Amino acid sequence: MSQERRYSFEFFPTKTEAGHEKLLNVAHQLAAFKPDFFSCTYGAGGSTRDRTLNTVLQLEREVNIPAAPHLSCVGDTKAELRELLAQYKDAGVKRIVALRGDLPSGMGMASGELRHASDLVSFIREETGAHFHIEVAAYPEMHPQARNFEDDIKHFVHKVKAGADSAITQYFFSADCYFYFLERVQKQGVDIPIVPGIMPITNYSKLARFSDACGAEIPRWIRKQLEAYSDDTASIQAFGEQVVTEMSERLLQGGAPGLHFYTLNQAEPSLAIWNNLKLPR
Ligand code: FAD
Repeated sequence: MSQERRYSFEFFPTKTEAGHEKLLNVAHQLAAFKPDFFSCTYGAGGSTRDRTLNTVLQLEREVNIPAAPHLSCVGDTKAELRELLAQYKDAGVKRIVALRGDLPSGMGMASGELRHASDLVSFIREETGAHFHIEVAAYPEMHPQARNFEDDIKHFVHKVKAGADSAITQYFFSADCYFYFLERVQKQGVDIPIVPGIMPITNYSKLARFSDACGAEIPRWIRKQLEAYSDDTASIQAFGEQVVTEMSERLLQGGAPGLHFYTLNQAEPSLAIWNNLKLPR
């Protein structure tokens, strides 16, 4: 297994002091595995602006792992984005995950001046040159609002050409869609690393709800098995761990340049997969 692969863990900023303490505890546990970076999500429209900023700075300073803020453009003005970029740059942050974002329902129309993630990537390059390593999002199963796969691929390629250094995928449960996506974009000249986003399976109803919202497919054979376990949490977790481990193994064997874990601020589910894969740390 190549040592150059990169591994990362994603968190979301919490609203409560207790939640934040838990996040830091989890980050300390995960730091022992020497990931390449942590990332922290951003509520489109700026709802987590300060919390994302503070969490990222704390992860860097107290947990000692490079941290990458997510930044979305759909509800922020250029002036707000410029200010945040300057704060991150001054604090020594080197990596950023650039997104369009989705405004939460009830927040009305997008008020941002930048419409697509590609606009944000260009904006970051204009404002800060080569300072940031820019990650963008990729959708092997197609973004849910895309008109068709062709269009989505075209927009992804455009976003990469705007200045992205690497990409992280939406989660999926079929390695084939990842390899197919990779082949399609590589044919269009994309040669940046595209790292699979890995979602551990721990709770079926939450996962089903979330997957419907973000357009991630839970294959029928997985869905049926999880439904059959009903509220038997231990069986759901054991089956989920096996399924996600086997898929991750296939991804790495097929050449995936690393893995990005959606931790949902929990250590154990990601670490179980990490340990099963005997990742080289
Ligand atoms: P884009 O790349 O702009 O694409 C969105 C849609 O617009 C696609 O259908 C695309 O085909 C289309 N499109 C792109 N360019 C054009 C164009 N020029 N003309 C017409 N159509 C176009 N959301 C958050 O709010 N906060 C987060 O922290 C967050 N983190 C994420 C992390 C990862 C790794 C991923 C995969 C997603 C994350 N999201 C987050 C969700 C993301 O914001 C949504 O999926 C959003 O709907 C799209 O964001 P994007 O950056 O992919 O947008």
